[in-house]
Amino acid sequence: MKKGKIIILVAPSGAGKTTLSKRLLNDFSTLKFSVSATTRTPRPHEVNGKDYFFFDNNEFDKAISEDRFLEWESFYGGSRYGTLRSTVEEDLKKGYFVLFDIEVKGALNVKAHYGDNALAIFIKPPSDEVLKERLKNRGTENEESLRMRLERARMELSYADRFEHVIINDDLERCYQELHRLVHSFMTQ
Ligand code: ADP
Ligand code: 5GP
Repeated sequence: MKKGKIIILVAPSGAGKTTLSKRLLNDFSTLKFSVSATTRTPRPHEVNGKDYFFFDNNEFDKAISEDRFLEWESFYGGSRYGTLRSTVEEDLKKGYFVLFDIEVKGALNVKAHYGDNALAIFIKPPSDEVLKERLKNRGTENEESLRMRLERARMELSYADRFEHVIINDDLERCYQELHRLVHSFMTQ
């Protein structure tokens, strides 16, 4: 059976990963989104099984004890996020390219696990101010979660130089074109 490859988009919250992922998924039919599990509360438009598998703390603990996660991390005051081995491995076996939208530590773990079979791209916001504005305008965060996301963003940005590819998401079209080129070239190499 064909074995697929991994594409990882990594960036602080609000940098534009979801927006860019949706466009990639729309443009590449061989690309499948890796649906993570999380204990955070669903946002109004989010669908269980499509955006995330929304687990309660007991379900998440059980999945850890059964070694069902390839990697998992805890942040933003205790919310946990993890990549389920089963979904990724099944899609890779079918020959899909699997798209990950995960934060820096998880991304480095996944990259280490898959080596040259994984392309990791860091998406950088143009500035701290723009990142704050985008997160505010998205309308999904309260004051406390906005503060936690911006605080974590500073730590995540310090990891950018650990990634081979860094794209600045200033103008969305330009950023997407650069991303599209990288992904296309990785898929066809
Ligand atoms: P992430 O998934 O990294 O948290 P999102 O894709 O949700 O980020 O983007 C955060 C917000 O910024 C969204 O409201 C999105 O529409 C907006 N956004 C993303 N990229 C740009 C851009 N280049 N210019 C202006 N707004 C953007
Ligand atoms: P959000 O709550 O905005 O959906 O995601 C918060 C952060 O969690 C983002 O940086 C996102 O990339 C990251 N994330 C989502 N799923 C996973 C996962 O499975 N593992 C890790 N390590 N991070 C994840």
